[in-house]
Amino acid sequence: MGVRLQNVAKSFGSFTAIRDVSMQIPTGSFAVFVGPSGCGKSTLLRMIAGLEETSGGEIFIEDREVTAVEPADRGVAMVFQNYALYPHLSVFENMAFSLRLARRPKAEVLARVGEAARILQLEEHLHKKPSQLSGGQRQRVAIGRAIVRQPKVFLFDEPLSNLDAELRVQMRLELTRLHRRLGATMIYVTHDQVEAMTLADKIFVLKGGIVQQAGAPLELYDDPDNRFVAGFIGSPSMNFLEGRVIEQAGDRVTLAVEGSEQRLEACVSAPLQSGQQVEIGIRPEHFQISQTGAVPVTVEVAEELGDVSYLYTRTSGGREIIVQRKGSRERLDGSTICLSAPPHHVLVFDGEGERLR
Ligand code: ATP
Repeated sequence: MGVRLQNVAKSFGSFTAIRDVSMQIPTGSFAVFVGPSGCGKSTLLRMIAGLEETSGGEIFIEDREVTAVEPADRGVAMVFQNYALYPHLSVFENMAFSLRLARRPKAEVLARVGEAARILQLEEHLHKKPSQLSGGQRQRVAIGRAIVRQPKVFLFDEPLSNLDAELRVQMRLELTRLHRRLGATMIYVTHDQVEAMTLADKIFVLKGGIVQQAGAPLELYDDPDNRFVAGFIGSPSMNFLEGRVIEQAGDRVTLAVEGSEQRLEACVSAPLQSGQQVEIGIRPEHFQISQTGAVPVTVEVAEELGDVSYLYTRTSGGREIIVQRKGSRERLDGSTICLSAPPHHVLVFDGEGERLR
């Protein structure tokens, strides 16, 4: 196992930043910790790096317990958001720094820095100072400093957040290629769910110092465990409506929807009570538009992107519902439409936000 956490906890005084986290990250995988600001993702990463002590639990890297091991002896290399380059050193010297510190032979330093520069396309820039580089190049130098150490595990703390949108997309692709090429275990922290979806083999969604759900990106997208994960993963977000259980027959449930006389059907095997209040979740692309659908809405704004359009609509009760439409360019601004969705795309959550399956 690349990295394993067993009941890891972290408190700062009386504040609990990480509650009780256990996880397994297989060797060679790309794991992403994602969640809103303050959810504890950086703290978790820093504990794996050894930059933060744990308050409880154990951390294993390649099956060796490292909970009390010094950062430099854990076999990890971390890439920070602010690059943390030495401004007075050249790109070459920045990348060679840790090898020189470890008194590696000159030929080895040359070879390892040369190889990292080749992978990251920095060969022309080796003599420059960080101030002479673009943001994307600086970030590549920071990654190069990690590569030369040949770590078992790469740790990335929001490494792309200082880059503009276009460069971020480009660097995202480069990171995926780098991961394939090096085959090393990588753990990446971000608050951006698109970054998480595109980079990860396995996503850990955190909130309030607890892992809400772990799984492959599309598992989380298609089959979220709770309302938080359902709403956090996916862009535009899942839509939520208030509902009430009318009846359940086998795994078919008939639901009344707020502000509508029509019914919506969902697939839920867990036993439900008639009259039970639930929350209904439907993704923008799963709506069907018809004359008789369950949810009448007024289209306020239609964004036409060519291949798809997004309809920003509102129910009579004032709730905003976003609908994604493909294959039709009929203008719907200002019109009233009715929405329905196939039962297997209608997700149901209980009063605590837990998914009812
Ligand atoms: P962000 O995306 O904003 O960086 P995060 O999910 O990475 O957020 P952490 O930096 O891990 O969050 O912090 C988790 C919680 O622990 C936050 O509420 C933060 O205020 C708190 N925290 C972090 N470091 C310390 C510290 N040294 N002392 C006290 N509280 C801290």
